[in-house]
Amino acid sequence: MVGLSKSRIIVHRQCPKRLWLQINRPDLLQVEGPTEARMAAGTNVGEVARSIYPDGVLIDGDSLRQAMEATQDALKSRSSPIFEATFQHQGVLVRADLLLPDAGQYRMAEVKSSTGVKDYHQADAAVQTWVARGSGLDLSRVEIAHINRSFVYQGGNDYRGLLHHADITEQIRPLEQQVPDWIAAARATLAGNEPNLAPGDQCHSPFECPFITYCSPQAVALTPAEDQFPIEILPYGGALAASLRSEGFVDLRDVPEARLSKPMHVRVWRATKHDTPELAPLAGEHVRALGYPRYYIDFETMQFVVPIWAGTSPYDQVPFQWSCHIEASKGSMTHTAFLADGSGDPRRPFAESLISTVGNAGAVIVYNAAFERTRLRELAESLPDLAPALNNIIERMFDLLPVARENYDHPDMRGSWSIKAVLPTIAPELAYDGLEVGNGGMAQEAFAEVLHADTPHHRRDQLRNALLIYCERDTLAMVKIAHYFENATAA
Ligand code: SF4
Repeated sequence: MVGLSKSRIIVHRQCPKRLWLQINRPDLLQVEGPTEARMAAGTNVGEVARSIYPDGVLIDGDSLRQAMEATQDALKSRSSPIFEATFQHQGVLVRADLLLPDAGQYRMAEVKSSTGVKDYHQADAAVQTWVARGSGLDLSRVEIAHINRSFVYQGGNDYRGLLHHADITEQIRPLEQQVPDWIAAARATLAGNEPNLAPGDQCHSPFECPFITYCSPQAVALTPAEDQFPIEILPYGGALAASLRSEGFVDLRDVPEARLSKPMHVRVWRATKHDTPELAPLAGEHVRALGYPRYYIDFETMQFVVPIWAGTSPYDQVPFQWSCHIEASKGSMTHTAFLADGSGDPRRPFAESLISTVGNAGAVIVYNAAFERTRLRELAESLPDLAPALNNIIERMFDLLPVARENYDHPDMRGSWSIKAVLPTIAPELAYDGLEVGNGGMAQEAFAEVLHADTPHHRRDQLRNALLIYCERDTLAMVKIAHYFENATAA
């Protein structure tokens, strides 16, 4: 009989077929992207949680038997926190992240990298509690130790206060009673053949299923082929697309114009159906009105579940890089950039270098202003001496995104005005294909590697170079888009 663990029971609750495949066809499993990142984040939080209790005992026996024996030995003291305490009950294995002594009993806490308690945490804790109590542990409380978003790191590896312990003892009592049924159902699934289940919402919640490529290969092919224009490319048109699908429409070009009521949908449909780009003169008027000098800027940011720089909080978006193309007068272009060296908090050098570059006059051009504006406001709050200069930059901001969205369309954009969708239609030679760092997520990963103490010098140089090329590409893209709007609509 295949052994069960808490995680296997939780996987079965998401989808019986997922558990069956995990045990019988592990060769089909594909773990990548967000799933890996989430796992990595969870590991880091777990390690920090242990650092908060330096007198704790880590259970790390080589075998399951040794781990359970070591757990029983540690429990006898009733005075020390225990990490990874291991229990088995009726063939189900669990490891508890934290057991904390509590007046002769123990509080059991599961450590999570989320900022609150999620529904699936409760099922997770219910299994944990059922097994721990079933094997004789005297529990006073059950808790989820999740990230406290308002925690501000003060430095010195002092993470007391990073975790908020939410008491869920009473909430999970009804779930505890269901655990035997969950176990029986999982065993029945594993005793049978591959379940015949169709993909659905369960494939993405509470976790992305790593078998989606096997179960639904068509769902993975998100990018339509060049000659395909599915109805779903209509922006913010989910309900309309579903309705049109139910009527048998597949290709946007086959949809009658009368079925579209939003001007944006009509414009996307028209450009697609006639395979012709559209640019309204207003786009050029907006850009021409900016005058000179112009500063085209773009930021890259880093998010940490566990903050590493004093004065920052979990999940803060800390800016570490900017690029700026400066157009002092028509046709006179220079470029400059900042990239943190990775030796410490990048916020002040980031802000000071930006202020010195963009001065106090001239349009500051961005693409999707909400992002850069919010980062500058956060910097102004953290660095009050720089607030007047940072607020001055905010006041001079000009957002190219709404200009593009309201005035420009190209069939190849397929209903998206992201800079990476627009740029190839205007300057195909500048597409992001082939760049070592080609999007914001990759930039975060690259900078995380730059920060890592074990990264060799040559690799660090290579990553920094890739980051500089990527961010420069973003601001050069803005230059190309602005010039195209100006020049293509010039009288
Ligand atoms: S992809 Fe969906 S249907 Fe297939 S195993 Fe995963 S959750 Fe189940």
